[in-house]
Parts: sequence; C-alpha cells; structure tokens
Amino acid sequence: MIVMKFGGTSVGDARAIERVCAIVADRRRRDPVVVVSAVGGITNLLLEAAQKARERSREGIRLYERFCAVHAAILRDLGLPERLIERERVQLKEVLHGIYYLGELTPRSLDCVASFGERASARIVSARLAARGVPSRPFTGWEAGIVTGDEHGNASPLPRTYRAVRARLGRARAVPVVTGFIAKNARGDITTLGRGGSDFTAAIIGRGMEADEIQIWTDVTGIMTADPRVVPAARTIRRLSFTEAAELAYFGAKVLHPRTIEPAVERDIPVRILNTFRPASAGTLVVRRAARPRRLVRAIACKKNNILINLRSTRMLDAHGFLARIFEVFRHHAVPVDLIATSEVSVSVTVDGVAAPRLGRIIGDLGKICTAGTIDGRAIVCVVGDGIGDTPNIAAKVFGAVGRRGINVEMISQASSAMNISFLVRNQDADAVVRLLHRAFLERGR
Ligand code: ASP
Ligand code: MG
Repeated sequence: MIVMKFGGTSVGDARAIERVCAIVADRRRRDPVVVVSAVGGITNLLLEAAQKARERSREGIRLYERFCAVHAAILRDLGLPERLIERERVQLKEVLHGIYYLGELTPRSLDCVASFGERASARIVSARLAARGVPSRPFTGWEAGIVTGDEHGNASPLPRTYRAVRARLGRARAVPVVTGFIAKNARGDITTLGRGGSDFTAAIIGRGMEADEIQIWTDVTGIMTADPRVVPAARTIRRLSFTEAAELAYFGAKVLHPRTIEPAVERDIPVRILNTFRPASAGTLVVRRAARPRRLVRAIACKKNNILINLRSTRMLDAHGFLARIFEVFRHHAVPVDLIATSEVSVSVTVDGVAAPRLGRIIGDLGKICTAGTIDGRAIVCVVGDGIGDTPNIAAKVFGAVGRRGINVEMISQASSAMNISFLVRNQDADAVVRLLHRAFLERGR
C-alpha cells in the first residue's frame, strides 16, 4: 500500500481538490491511505482567530466567518452539501467563544482551534472521492490511531501509535482520508505535530502500515539542485538519500522537514515528492541509500541572513570546558547554533538572523567568558553530496571557484557526516556563489 499526502495548496480550492481526487482514483490499485493538510492558509487563519478571540477583538468573529466562507465556497463548487462540515463549524464557534469569554488561550486550546482546518478538509476530500465513485471514509488523526505525548504545538507519537494505526486503518475497505497535523494525547486532548506536521502524519501512518512508499504531493516538482529563482538551470533531483535531504531541508529547500520523515527513515520506507499540478513528472525519490551520483555534488543550497559570532580567548588554550560554557549561553537564550568552526584560541559560530533581538544579551553573557564580536548579513552556502567526504580535492575545487571571483570566504565547516561543505559569504555575494558552484558541479557534462 502507499500513503499519499496532499499539502495545503493541493487542497487549496475546488479545482485543486478535483485534481487530488483524480490522482487518488488513478492509484486505487495501490491501496492508498490519503493524508490531507488544511486548505491553504486556513491554519494561519485559525491561529489568528484564536489570538483575536483571546484579545476579545471582533476580528476573531470576522476570521471565523472567513473560515466558514472559504469552505462553503469549496463545498458549493464541488457540489457537496454545506452540512458536511456543520459539526466542525459549530464546535469551532463554541471553542472560540470559550476563549473569548475567558480571555485566556492555553497551548491546549490553541491546538484544539488549529485542528479544525484538517478536520474540514479531510471530510471534504473524502466526500468528493466518494461522490466520484471511490468509496472513502474520513478519519481524524486520533481515529486513525495516532496517540502523542503532551507537547502541545509540537507533539510526537507514542510508540503504541504504530500498532494502533495498523489496527484502525489496516482493515479499511474504503479509502481512508486522514487529517494531517493533528492527534490526541493519552488523556484525549487534541495535540498538533508542529507546523507542516501533515508530512509527519504521513510518515507515521506509512510506518504503521509498513507502506511501500510515502508520497508527499506538493506544489513543486521535488527537491531541486538549487533554488530555481537563483539558478535558472536548476533541475529536479531524481533520487537522493535521507541524509542529503535532511541537509537540504535545513537550507531552505523547505520541501521536507527531516524530523517529519524520521518514522519513514527508521523503517527504510522510500519517500517520494510529487507535484499535484504536474502528476506525470517523476518527482524526487528519497531513500536510505541513493546510488552514487554520476556527479559528486547533489545540490547547492543557501541560507541568507545569518549572524557570525567570533569568540576569542587566550584562556581557551589548553583549558577544558570552555566550549561547554559558550554553548551554555546559547542554550540559556534558546538560540540554535548552525555552523561552528574552532581553533585553539577562537571559536566562530553562526546563528540565524531571527535571533537578532536576543543578540545583545547573548553577547553580554559571552563577554564574561571571552572577547565576542558579531557580523551580520552573512549567507551560508552548502555544497551537498554523499560522496563529498571521500573525494580528494573537492574543497580546492569549491574554494578555487569562489576565490577566482574575488569573493571572500569567512568561515568553513565540514562536519562528520562528510556529505557537505558549508561556508559563509556576504549576503550580497551569495547568489553569485550559488550560480558559479552550480555551473562548476552540476551543469557541465563531467
Ligand atoms: N496545516 C498545518 C500547517 O499549516 C499542517 C500542514 O500543512 O502540514 O502547518
Ligand atoms: Mg507543508
């Protein structure tokens, strides 16, 4: 069997949903379990409605009405009755009223509000499938057997989930359409699996069902060799490994979050990324071990707007525990560190530019341990490919190409996974660097 997950754009309006139903109907022989996101934009709308209700603002009511109007239009265009999501509409209204009257919004209530997007979309997609002659039944995440811990907003499945999924969905005759993103904890409170969590749901179900393949249907043709807005010659990557995909996910190829496919990785279930709007294209297949590429480099990724923090202390020489004290500061301020490079008396790290408001305090604390300076507006460029670590001379090729352009590299890091070389350049140089590396490694017939 296969799991087919459709994201928010794929169920964004009636036409898109028709397309989804046609794609599912075509693959009926493969015993699909369908997982759907909320209609595009609806999760954001719900989260905002909850905030507004807490502030006792009329805007909350307006957003609620918008939720109803968007779904009513889709139902109408699909020829489905409005009462199909009557229960969701009534319950959502009651929950928002509760928040309004109490003036209080807990993470638990927020998850409850957020759940209505997927609850509505799963009902709609399932009903439309049935109307087209594909017997189908909607399931919420909890009806499908997913039980999570208590981390509202970012919950993970408990181990018993997998067996429950198999028990609940294994015998289904009709095609199950399961809500992505949402589940319940052991006490029966609704939880969510983190933003973009429908992919996680798909992987959880794929593992529970021991699926042959997990398909992530989205609005791009897969993972690309570079950002096509920067590199017009960028191509879809046919096959890559889970680790390569994880590196790329971090660097803005936001197609797959590595955490969300962990259940698939654990069971070695291939994950295929496909385009709902171009269903014939093969997409990208992510597998445990991708065949050694003809080209050494799989992709060039880039993330702009990072802050470089340079730390220096002669006391570091021969001392132990120094790094621990530095990283304790980042832990204390809850700021993740991305790249690291060290020498005997200096450490350089980068953090995402979104940490800028907390930077003053971080530097203050670091200043008690060592000399600390920051430089902002930096881009991380990442050359990714499984074979990079055991290929001589590749660093020379990368930095030679960059250096010949007169572009200065400010920090270099090649981690133990040995499948990427990451380095830092100025924001304004980043696009040129990505283009020239793409040309050097991915365009010439080498
Ligand atoms: N609807 C949820 C979100 O917007 C989950 C998802 O789309 O995967 O984050
Ligand atoms: Mg998504």
